[in-house]
Amino acid sequence: MADPVTSKVLIHLATLAADEEGRKNLVILFSIPLVLVLIILMLFAYILASPLSLLAGFFTNQNEMAALQAFRAEHGDKIRLQTGAIILNGKYPMPAVGEITSPYGKRIHPVTGKRSFHTGIDIAGEWHGEIKSIADGQVVKVSIDEIYGNSILIKHDYPDETFYSFYAHLSKVFALPDQEIFTGDIIGLEGGDPELDPNPGSSTGHHLHFEIRTSRLALSHTDPVAYLYAPSKNEEEE
Ligand SMILES: [Zn+2]
Repeated sequence: MADPVTSKVLIHLATLAADEEGRKNLVILFSIPLVLVLIILMLFAYILASPLSLLAGFFTNQNEMAALQAFRAEHGDKIRLQTGAIILNGKYPMPAVGEITSPYGKRIHPVTGKRSFHTGIDIAGEWHGEIKSIADGQVVKVSIDEIYGNSILIKHDYPDETFYSFYAHLSKVFALPDQEIFTGDIIGLEGGDPELDPNPGSSTGHHLHFEIRTSRLALSHTDPVAYLYAPSKNEEEE
């Protein structure tokens, strides 16, 4: 049997629920905290998902801004639940040793702070680490531009599939247009550090931006996770 206080509350609620007016009051009574909790959750989601440049307007104090950045770094993954862990399920080796720090898909651009579509994956490894071709193929293009810095596009023509791989923010390029390439060939060195590297492109720090394309066109980008496999521990230590 419940204690007297609980019983009293239950009896009171039952009386309230008995007539039409009482039921209305009861609904309002329970709605208020529910709405408050929802507002708090939405505010939390808004802070996590908003571009930093937008939120900066609310935080004029440098310490507050730093605290916000730390908060987002710690909790940012909660708002991207649909992304989950990146599972590589392809048959080609990774182009560089390092961690995938930014997946393919929608994201907040680290430079512009705006919502954008990330057309490849970012791999953060050793500065000036070796970048290797993920498959046999032929170099289509070696280019320099403001977005990707020094980049290489390679065509892979296999009997079962044809695709292109794209490597950007390179500090050094060891490939020539039309050159034949084999899996694992070192085609360049990682770069993209805006302070230290030549032609970093649009980049906040050194990393490899890697894309898979189904045609020569940049628009034909597709998720690289379907093409790459995760390196074994031994391969990573090499
Ligand atoms: Zn990228």
